[in-house]
Amino acid sequence: MDVAIVGGGIVGLASAYELAGRGHAVTVLEKGSLGMGSTARAAGGIRQQFSTEVNVKLSLASLPTWETFEERFGVDLAFRRHGYLFLAREPDTERTLRENVAMQNALGVPSELLSPEEAREHCPGLRADRFRCCSYCAEDGIADPNLAVQGYAGAVREAGVEVRTKTPVTELLEEGGHVTGLVAGGDRVEADSVVLAAGAWTRELATGLDIELPIAPRRRSIAVVDPEISVPETDPLTADLDTGAYFMPERDGVAFVGGQIGEDRDVDPDGYGEGIEMLWAAEAVERAGDLATYFGPDSRIRRGWSGLYAVTPDSHPVIEESLPGLVVAAGFSGHGFMHAPATGKVVAELVSDGEASTVDIAPLSSDRFGEEGRVERNVV
Ligand SMILES: Cc1cc2nc3c(=O)[nH]c(=O)nc-3n(C[C@H](O)[C@H](O)[C@H](O)COP(=O)(O)OP(=O)(O)OC[C@H]3O[C@@H](n4cnc5c(N)ncnc54)[C@H](O)[C@@H]3O)c2cc1C
Repeated sequence: MDVAIVGGGIVGLASAYELAGRGHAVTVLEKGSLGMGSTARAAGGIRQQFSTEVNVKLSLASLPTWETFEERFGVDLAFRRHGYLFLAREPDTERTLRENVAMQNALGVPSELLSPEEAREHCPGLRADRFRCCSYCAEDGIADPNLAVQGYAGAVREAGVEVRTKTPVTELLEEGGHVTGLVAGGDRVEADSVVLAAGAWTRELATGLDIELPIAPRRRSIAVVDPEISVPETDPLTADLDTGAYFMPERDGVAFVGGQIGEDRDVDPDGYGEGIEMLWAAEAVERAGDLATYFGPDSRIRRGWSGLYAVTPDSHPVIEESLPGLVVAAGFSGHGFMHAPATGKVVAELVSDGEASTVDIAPLSSDRFGEEGRVERNVV
C-alpha cells in the first residue's frame, strides 16, 4: 500500500519505520526538518509510572525498543535509568499514588510506594516533611530525543522510505468520506492511507474533515539551573503531583527545572515563543526549592527553552482510524516521545490489519471525549 505520513517527529518516524517493515511504500512529509517540532524540545523522559492502564501498556510496549535501541538502530540513546519519583502532598493524591502502584505492579511494572524518608535514599535533598507518600520506579529514566530521531531517521531511509522535508502539507484530500491523499509542497500525493502525526499542529490540519480532534497546542518550558547545591546525577526525575513542579539532574550538578504555572492557554503553534520568561523560571526554581534543598536562593538560571505539548482533555492521545484512509496518532499530552515505539507499531497494525494488536487502543478513540473516562493524573 502507499502510505503518506504527515509529520516527521518521533511519532511519524516510528510509524514510518514499522510501516516500511511491513512492506508498504511510505512517504514522510515534514514541513520543517525531522524531529524539530516538539520532539527536539522534550526532556526525554521514559517511564512506566502512569495512572491509567492504557498509558502503562504503551510504555511497556515501547520499552523493549528503547532498551535495545543501539542494537536495532546503531545509535546510543544515552538512556540513564535513575528513576522517576512522584510525590503526594494531599490525601487524595496519596490515594491515587497507592492505586497507581497496585495497578502498575499488576501489569508487571516494578514501581514501589515509599515513605518520604525512604525516598531520601534516592533523592538525598528531598524535603521529606512536605510529603505524605511517594512512588518510585528504578527502571524509569531519561534519554536523548535527538539521538532517537537520528536512529529512526537513518533506519527509515535505509528501508526505502521517501522523506520529504521542507514540504508542508496544506490539504488532506477526501472523497465521499474517504481520505485519498494530500497536497504537499504544491504536489498532489495519492495514498491508500494517510497517517496524521503532526503533533500540536494536528487539529488545524484536520479542519474541514468530519472529525473532532480536541488536541490543543500548549506551551511548556524548561529552565537549565545551576542549583545552590549540586544535584547528584543519580537523583530521579522528581515531580510534585500537587503543584506540577519537577526537576531532574543533568550533568555536573546542573538540573532541568520545569512545571506549568498559571493559566494554561492554547497558543499559536507557529509563534509561541521558544525561549523562557525569567518570571516563570524564577517561580519554577522557587517551587523546586520547596521540593528539595538543592535550589536555595543562590541558584542561578543559565538558560532554557519552550516547546509544545499537544494536550487532550484527559491527557491521553488519539490513536485510531478516524475516517477510512486516515489514521490519527497525536495528542500525547507530554508523553509522546516515550510512547512513540508502541505507537508506530499500532499505526502499522491499523493500516495493515485494520485493528491494533500491540495495545488495546479502544480508550484512545476520539469519540471518548464528553464521556466519563479516566484522566491521566501522572502528568509531568
Ligand atoms: C518541554 C517539553 C518536555 C517534554 N518532555 C517529554 C518527556 O520527558 N517525555 C516524553 O515522552 N515526551 C515529552 N514531551 C512531549 C514530546 O515532545 C511529544 O509528545 C512528542 O515529541 C510528540 O511527537 P510527535 O512526533 O507527535 O510531534 P512533533 O515532534 O511535534 O512532530 C510533528 C511534526 O509535524 C510537522 N508538521 C506540522 N504540521 C505540518 C504540515 N502541515 N505539513 C508537514 N509537517 C507538519 C511538525 O513540523 C513536526 O515536526 C515534552 C515536550 C515538551 C515541549
